[in-house]
Amino acid sequence: MKRPWLNKRTLGYAGIVAASLVIGIVSGWTSLATQIDDSAYDWMFHLFPPVAAKPHCMILAIDDATYGAMGSQSEYRTMLAAGLELLAAGHPKVVGIDMVLADKAVPVKDERLERAMRATKNLVLVTHLVGQHWENPLPRFGQWAAAVGHDTADEHSNDGVTRQIPLEQRTARERHWALGLEAFRLAKGERIIESPEDIQIGSETIPAARTNDENRPLRVRYSPDPHFIPEISIKELNDNPDLAAKFTGQTVFVGVTSDTATYDRVATPYRKGRIPGVEVHAQLFETLERGQFLINASDLSVVGFCLLAGVLAGLIFVLLNGWPAYLSAGALLIAAHVTPFLLFRQGIVFPYFAPMASAWLTVAAAASYQHFVVRLALRASETERKRYQQAIHFVTHEMRTPLTAIQGSSELMGRYNLSEEKRKQMTDMINQESKRLARMIQTFLDVERLSDGQMELKHEQFTAKELVEACLQRVRPLGERKNIRVSNGELSGVLEGDRELMEYAVYNLMTNAVKYSGPDTEVTVACRLEGDRVRLSVEDQGIGMDAKELRQIFQKFYRTKRAEASGEKGTGIGLSIVEQIVHHHGGKMEVTSQPGQGSCFTVVLPAHSRASHPNSVSV
Ligand code: ADP
Repeated sequence: MKRPWLNKRTLGYAGIVAASLVIGIVSGWTSLATQIDDSAYDWMFHLFPPVAAKPHCMILAIDDATYGAMGSQSEYRTMLAAGLELLAAGHPKVVGIDMVLADKAVPVKDERLERAMRATKNLVLVTHLVGQHWENPLPRFGQWAAAVGHDTADEHSNDGVTRQIPLEQRTARERHWALGLEAFRLAKGERIIESPEDIQIGSETIPAARTNDENRPLRVRYSPDPHFIPEISIKELNDNPDLAAKFTGQTVFVGVTSDTATYDRVATPYRKGRIPGVEVHAQLFETLERGQFLINASDLSVVGFCLLAGVLAGLIFVLLNGWPAYLSAGALLIAAHVTPFLLFRQGIVFPYFAPMASAWLTVAAAASYQHFVVRLALRASETERKRYQQAIHFVTHEMRTPLTAIQGSSELMGRYNLSEEKRKQMTDMINQESKRLARMIQTFLDVERLSDGQMELKHEQFTAKELVEACLQRVRPLGERKNIRVSNGELSGVLEGDRELMEYAVYNLMTNAVKYSGPDTEVTVACRLEGDRVRLSVEDQGIGMDAKELRQIFQKFYRTKRAEASGEKGTGIGLSIVEQIVHHHGGKMEVTSQPGQGSCFTVVLPAHSRASHPNSVSV
């Protein structure tokens, strides 16, 4: 089946667009991309806060005032016990304590705390994972807890900002749910039903899938208002025990909020300083209560989006041109930038960097490729036009001479009664000139087809001697007319190629040497074998050229001033054909020249040994 669109150019284009797409997608996994994705996330977080609702929990705080009034930081167990005792009067629904109580303290104090815990309904204590070891609450406290939850914040965060919390933490022997989640299920009075994709608590489904590290991360939707969750300190409660009524039926998180307790402060996407750890648990609780979850887009959907952007970018620059193409590409780029925002509003966290990089890279690649190729195509057609003009020029110039001779001779023959001898002379001349014309046309066509890549070179083998001697025979009479001796030096080496074209080239160099030399000079042709190369040189003692002229003589129609002044006729096209012929034979031209001293043109060609290619001779 023919597929005209499946050409080199289409494949190259598709390849370049695909490569930039791959770079775009892969760059999404770099740390720079993570940083940019995080910043974009924080920005969107700021732009699209959760729909405002009433708070569902409260904080009982050990703040600086509490420390000030009720003793130093080491007295926190006494303060906690006092807080729980006062809280009991309000009958809260659930009490979560965000203080690791793993160490033994003064027994009397622990006794009081234990007593207060025993009297607390739905108590949730905290445990802390250090390496593979859980710092569980002392058994005397733990026995009164309805649940023990972990206090781990965002352990995979690259910049220390807690954007998500692992709902589950496990070691080989023990696993714990997050403190906020345990408080939530106790508040609901339900059990946790888990599946690999989500967690079910009562009627609520929490989309926290078990990831590779099995920790079910859930994005915390912090409330934008820093005072959203009501907070009462233990000192305030101690000073005014009636405040306990405010906690009635509430879920209460107890913890240290003191500014000096910096070890337990967490950065949030709002970046307005850090908030106490206990508030993060309360915010997780609020997130669960609100049920407006943020879900990470799957890797597959991200890659799919990038692919779509890449394919569209590729198609835009194939199907459209100019402004419509650039406008559509602009629309595509805008779409790539805006999509993460639109999805965020729908509760889907879509990375920012990979789609953006993919769209930009593929648009840039597609646009520049098309631009470049269109330019190239234009340039190619321009060259083609020029070449054609030059060809016409060549035909008219080169062929005029033999035609004039033929025309003149035939006219003479028709008009006058010529002697038999004269008539024979004229017939010979017509015959010779028309053969020359035919040869010239053939050579011209061959060279044209060669440079077009249409013609295969013949692969004949011939000695340099045969080649040069054939040329010498034709050039010697020309030399004699100017009293120039055309001789040869060493003639060794075997060549392979198109003998007719090679003869045209060498003949051209030799006629040039004669043309551009004064009388009583010498033209010497030699051919030497040097390693695997044959060096065929034509040396004269003629007008020569300077270095600047030397650089241009292979350009079509270029003639040196000296050549013009010499009165010798020429078109300036011969050497360009010679160079093409030599080039197509895998060789190169070397020229040395001194103005007024002479020139030496050398054809350097690959040598061939007749013995090693006995079967390839095809004459
Ligand atoms: P033409 O001889 O028809 O002018 P060519 O392409 O054969 O065209 O040569 C280009 C130019 O190179 C010549 O016009 C001449 O200026 C210079 N040239 C070529 N061969 C020689 C030579 N042997 N000595 C000096 N100048 C030369």
